[in-house]
Amino acid sequence: MHGGRDVANDASTVFDVVILGGGSGGYAAALRGAQLGLSVALVEKGELGGTCLHRGCIPTKALLHAAEIADETKEAAEFGVLATFQGIDINGVHKYKDDVVAGLYKGLQGLVASRKVTFVQGEGKLSSPTSVDVNGQRIEGRHIILATGSVPRSIPGLEIDGNRVISSDHALKLDRIPKSAVILGGGVIGVEFASVWKSFGVDVTIVEALPHLVPLEDENSSKLLERAFRKRGIKFELKARFSGVEYTETGVRVSTENGKQIDADLLLVAIGRGPVSAGLGYEENGVAMDRGYVLVDEYMRTNVPTVSAVGDLAPTLQLAHVGFAEGILVAERLAGLKPVPIDYDGVPRVTYSNPEVASVGISEAKAVELYGKEKVVTVKYNLAGNGKSKILKTAGEIKLVQVKDGAVVGVHMVGARMGEQVGEAQLIYNWEALPAEVAQLIHAHPTQSEALGEAHLALAGKPLHAHD
Ligand SMILES: Cc1cc2nc3c(=O)[nH]c(=O)nc-3n(C[C@H](O)[C@H](O)[C@H](O)COP(=O)(O)OP(=O)(O)OC[C@H]3O[C@@H](n4cnc5c(N)ncnc54)[C@H](O)[C@@H]3O)c2cc1C
Repeated sequence: MHGGRDVANDASTVFDVVILGGGSGGYAAALRGAQLGLSVALVEKGELGGTCLHRGCIPTKALLHAAEIADETKEAAEFGVLATFQGIDINGVHKYKDDVVAGLYKGLQGLVASRKVTFVQGEGKLSSPTSVDVNGQRIEGRHIILATGSVPRSIPGLEIDGNRVISSDHALKLDRIPKSAVILGGGVIGVEFASVWKSFGVDVTIVEALPHLVPLEDENSSKLLERAFRKRGIKFELKARFSGVEYTETGVRVSTENGKQIDADLLLVAIGRGPVSAGLGYEENGVAMDRGYVLVDEYMRTNVPTVSAVGDLAPTLQLAHVGFAEGILVAERLAGLKPVPIDYDGVPRVTYSNPEVASVGISEAKAVELYGKEKVVTVKYNLAGNGKSKILKTAGEIKLVQVKDGAVVGVHMVGARMGEQVGEAQLIYNWEALPAEVAQLIHAHPTQSEALGEAHLALAGKPLHAHD
């Protein structure tokens, strides 16, 4: 334990807030709560920072960056640079990734200590609507925030052995580069690993039950990603339901219901993540749940007045920045501020593959459903017309969805580095900008942000560098 009071020696302590789980949602609530003067205890059984820092966002993005360097080395001659790609030193990659994580971990530990948050290391359990038991001790709080997050999910009968059939947790620590891999699930995690592994020389096949990769994105983005992946030699089977896996002499044989069989060194199961809530006393204390998720209202309140839940444990978008926002919202509410509920459509979403897929707002299909076909206007701006994208030799598009004569309600982007453009896109969506207003703003030349400007110029009826 570090920071704040020593609960072990102070049984009378009643904290303003006790938080169970120190991942993105939990630690954000702790930091904001402490900032607002609340006394906070943060209980964590593993490492402060949770999935995102240790097994999610940060290590995967480090791998993706190493993959980008590998690709750039292989393609260096296209830019007139003489370089030879000799291969991947997987230990070196892990060292780089682990150093990034370790640095951020240290910084976060320091931050939590400096805000006088009482950090309690241990596995906790909700013992009453106002207490958590940990290390044989009861920690009382006027309010409890449940933030125990999520873990990789599998399907019945598919056992993850950590060797030939692995989850993302194992994939991040893999001490070898397989020759081939099947990835079950074409969502964000599956697509990001496919991208990394292909750059590292792995023969990759994605098996996805739905009709498209990244199926939560606008269909246009999915199609552009599929085209780019096809070009990169990343194979994928769509509308293919997994039916079984068997061990072969050297690896696995994955079968699908439509009769396909794919042999590979290993199978990565990336079909989603399930909430961590079993056996933690939630139901026993009357907290309403649905399939393991803790049910919350728009202020992240559960049905038990002294208990809130944030992050992946709640059935909202499973993203670190959503966890941060939900944690901050609860802390501010408990401190007596009046935070506004989160507009989940306004949350930026990025898949950091090569190419990147980034979006905010709603898809064209959803806009048509909400406003009717005749009220929805779209425009697509091809990155071929964007100088900086040309310099980077990236292909892709920015698609805007607008309600006729109204605001832009969806921005959908595919291309290298498009994740960095989502900051402006989210301001456009969340400030309900009109195309003409954005068209008025000057974008620096040559940047990829110009493509966003150009798309809005086109939507405002005055395209500049757009080809019909
Ligand atoms: C491979 C991968 C890549 C990802 N990439 C991104 C990305 O690029 N961007 C993004 O926004 N999101 C990404 N995510 C999602 C992101 O990691 C999660 O949305 C985020 O970590 C959720 O935060 P959380 O606080 O709800 O849960 P978690 O981060 O899972 O934290 C929960 C914490 O609670 C602790 N805990 C659980 N039970 C107990 C208990 N009984 N007692 C004490 N402590 C307990 C756990 O040890 C854990 O530290 C990725 C996830 C994965 C798996």
